[in-house]
Amino acid sequence: VTAGIGSVESPGDKLLGGLLPPGFDESSCLSRYQAALYRKASPHKPSPFLVEKLRRYESLHRKCGPNTELYNRSIQQLESDHSTGPMECNYVVWIPHYGLGNRVMSIVSGFLYALLNDKVLLIHVDQDMEDLFCEPFPDTSWVLPKDFPIENLGEFEGDATLSYGKLIRDKIINNDMRFATKVTLPAYVYLHLPWYSKEWDRLFYCEDAQQLLRKIPWLLLRTDEYFVPSLFLVDEYEEELQQLFPERTTVFHHLVRYLFHPTNTVWGYVMRYYQGYLAKADERIGIQIRIFPLVPIPFETMLNQIINCTLSQHILPAINPQEPAAAPSNAAKVKAVLVTNLNSSYHDRLRDMYYEHSTTTGEVITVHQPSHEEQQHTDKRSHNVKAWSEITLLSFSDVLVTTAWSTFGYVAQGLGGLKPWILLRHPRPGVACVHATAVVAHTCLDSGASIGAVKMVNGVELHHGALKRRWDEKGSLNHGAA
Ligand code: GDP
Repeated sequence: VTAGIGSVESPGDKLLGGLLPPGFDESSCLSRYQAALYRKASPHKPSPFLVEKLRRYESLHRKCGPNTELYNRSIQQLESDHSTGPMECNYVVWIPHYGLGNRVMSIVSGFLYALLNDKVLLIHVDQDMEDLFCEPFPDTSWVLPKDFPIENLGEFEGDATLSYGKLIRDKIINNDMRFATKVTLPAYVYLHLPWYSKEWDRLFYCEDAQQLLRKIPWLLLRTDEYFVPSLFLVDEYEEELQQLFPERTTVFHHLVRYLFHPTNTVWGYVMRYYQGYLAKADERIGIQIRIFPLVPIPFETMLNQIINCTLSQHILPAINPQEPAAAPSNAAKVKAVLVTNLNSSYHDRLRDMYYEHSTTTGEVITVHQPSHEEQQHTDKRSHNVKAWSEITLLSFSDVLVTTAWSTFGYVAQGLGGLKPWILLRHPRPGVACVHATAVVAHTCLDSGASIGAVKMVNGVELHHGALKRRWDEKGSLNHGAA
């Protein structure tokens, strides 16, 4: 059990400074109150305003949750094929897109959007996502009921009849309707916001769109983007967001720890691995390597980046050139390295390096990798269980090294409250990794000026100059040396 230096959570603060609601049945989701025991204590305290807002959201969700009377009333409105304004209960239905990291980040974005608009977030859980996440809100469910009247949610694309971008483009609705007292609107609107969305879709980020969408009881949301920074750029939300998150870089950290708890099935994987391979080490190092098939990196290049990064930042010791070396003393410090990757080659080379050689510091380095699935299979539940277990295990690290561009690593970083070293994709003289995090945002203005898609980035290589400048005017999201 580790407690971070300068931490504000007392050891054993199982409610994470008021972030988590009390009163859950602990045995139904062991990780909810136990995960904090395995993570470094967070140096960031949730604001009293956030804590209060979450409690109010929880009662709204209880009142409007699946199969309540108010839910049924909103469903009846949905089935009537039109709406005339907001109902007592209004919903954001999240639709999955891409891998687990992308899903977690987009759920966090959808939740913040719902929170700011007094809407209720329901998630569409297909068979591939069953039994991964505990219910985050007490005495209710965030899972969209199976009998939800709109079918084939997974097939929605930008050309869907009720896509917001399309409705605006074809002038079937316009944002001036937000002022009308009597108006007939669609029963629901589909928000198409994957990275390849069009400029019409991205008008969503404009304030007048936000106001209009408040009138529509059902919004279906499909995205792989972390659009939280874009919400900060909507003037209307600025003050409330400032109160909720005085430290604006902590939004993801707080919300991911609030929403995402491995189910007992996943927690079993996590604990078996942790207790078996990692618990007894003096220090745990997580190394997450993600190679994107469309932008591959040669194996030796990436391996060198990992070794150069961990050695130059004194995360791992160098191997001893003087062999044979004396056996390590009984008091030798043990560092356990947890490698995650779809393939076992990086793990094998690092393990061999520290098995075949002693270290210059006398430390003993053990290297472990829970799985090597070879390929991404997001449609398979057993594959997603391993991915989620590994993200959770990475979040228990004392030091984390991740790959640029990967949401898989970003989720681990957020859960752990860690500031990772990010491996650069291309070697630069003397620099293999950087201690930096930057998030870029779509703004309303982008929709007119078609700047091309900019994904959430946790490295420094995808900065978009214009966007970043605009963001910096409002206060930089960067922390660390970018
Ligand atoms: P991103 O594509 O790196 O941003 O992350 P995502 O999580 O959205 O998609 C990658 C998916 O590939 C994961 O969700 C897993 O299904 C799989 N994957 C990638 N890297 C690993 C890994 O290290 N371990 C496991 N178990 N799965 C991985």
